[in-house]
Amino acid sequence: MALLILDRDGVINQDSASYIRSLEDWIPIPGSIEAIAALSQVGFTIAIATNQSGLSRGYFTIDDLEAIHSTMVRLVEEQGGHIAGVFYCPHHPDEGCECRKPGTGLLSAIEQELGESATDAFFIGDSLKDLQAAQTYGCKPVLVKTGNGISTLQGLQANPTELINADQILVYNNLAEAADAIVMAGSRFL
Ligand SMILES: [Mg+2]
Ligand SMILES: [Zn+2]
Repeated sequence: MALLILDRDGVINQDSASYIRSLEDWIPIPGSIEAIAALSQVGFTIAIATNQSGLSRGYFTIDDLEAIHSTMVRLVEEQGGHIAGVFYCPHHPDEGCECRKPGTGLLSAIEQELGESATDAFFIGDSLKDLQAAQTYGCKPVLVKTGNGISTLQGLQANPTELINADQILVYNNLAEAADAIVMAGSRFL
C-alpha cells in the first residue's frame, strides 16, 4: 500500500471564494469521485488534507463539515473505492497552528493515524500551500488546474522560487487526468 493525499476544495469539489459552507455548496468536479475510487482500487490508501478555517470563522459548524465528508466518503464507496481518512485544520490563519497548510501537521496526523509513511506519497492540490506542504514533508507535489490551479501555476511561473524545482512539478488539468496518469504508471508507485 502507498499513501496518496488529496486536497479537497478545488481538487475534489468546486471551490468558492465565499467558502463551502454546507452540503448544498459542495459540488464535486466532474470525474473526481470516480478518480478517487480508481486510485483506491489500484491500491492507494487515500487521505484528504484540507484547510477549513471557515470553522473558526463561524461560517459553518462541525456538523456541516461532517455532512459534507460523510457524503464524499459515501459517493466514493458507491464507486467501489475507499477514503481512509479526512483530516482538516479547523483553525484561523492568525492562530498560528501547525496543521494549516503550508504547515505539515495534517501530514503527520495522517501518518500517525493511518500507520503509513507520507514520504514520497503523491499530494494532489490546487494551491501553492498544498505544494509547499508536500515539499516540506517530502511528498511528491502534483498540481491540478481546477480551483486555484491556474492562478497557482501563473504565480509559480512568475515567482518560481516559491518551490524547489518549480518547473518539474507535475501538472494535470484535473483530478481525473492526474489519476489516469498515476494509475497508468501503475504499480511502481505502490
Ligand atoms: Mg484547494
Ligand atoms: Zn490548524
